[in-house]
Amino acid sequence: MKNFSILVVIALAALLCGCISPQELPSGKINVVTTIAPQKELIKSVGKEKVNITVLVPPGAEPHTFEPAPSQMRAVANADLYIMNGAGLEFWMDKLLQVNKKMIVIDSSKGIDLVLESEGEADPHIWLSLRNAVVQLENIYQGLIRVDPDNRDFYLKNKEDYVQKLQSLDAELNESFASAHRKIFVVHHPAWTYFARDYNLDQVPLMENEKEPGPKYLGEVIELARKNNITAIFVEPEFNPKAAEVIAKEMNASIIDLDPLAENYLENMRYAGKKIAEGLIS
Ligand SMILES: [Zn+2]
Repeated sequence: MKNFSILVVIALAALLCGCISPQELPSGKINVVTTIAPQKELIKSVGKEKVNITVLVPPGAEPHTFEPAPSQMRAVANADLYIMNGAGLEFWMDKLLQVNKKMIVIDSSKGIDLVLESEGEADPHIWLSLRNAVVQLENIYQGLIRVDPDNRDFYLKNKEDYVQKLQSLDAELNESFASAHRKIFVVHHPAWTYFARDYNLDQVPLMENEKEPGPKYLGEVIELARKNNITAIFVEPEFNPKAAEVIAKEMNASIIDLDPLAENYLENMRYAGKKIAEGLIS
């Protein structure tokens, strides 16, 4: 009888275990929360299988106006480490800190030479520069070794491997832009400031002061594009496709999709570099 009840207890315990969601089980991994999807690949490349990563801004959401939902606070409460983009993107960070006072918070923009916008605020799109990403990777590495100093060598090796990938793509892009006849590329919203700085280019945004453009501004951009024989405009998934079509037709340019928030960071940067370069060399 006694043996039987032990079996029942074990069976019950197994059943109960099955009902508990995976987040409640200690995973033995470092729980990292970050703001935007491109950061995930950077963090994963250093932390590999030792990290669990939660991204707060969901695909398709507008990161500049995004604020974490109450349902996301649980991931924050369980976080060991928060990797901020920094440069002003997380204007709601104080709220998150109240949920979890113990997590280590790293600002991945630390050490990056920030570009100031006309209102004196930093341009937050730091990740769209491979050179900035090298600095961000170092900050991520510093965060991981603070949480898990025993695995310092593991993180160091991973960091160095990924830095090499970033630098070799940077060298490739540098070479392709060096032979560009033109320097101007037209984008939807001005996310490519740091990218343009790296390769000595000029981005011309279709948006006027972060808003949908007025006819006067749009006329100027179209004029500029014609003068410079612009062959492509780069638009984001959120951009009104009808408006893009009208503008592209006026410029006699083709539309190329470019997502600054793609999760496959390195591949996306390679694609962006290739497409932008094609538009400047042809
Ligand atoms: Zn943006």
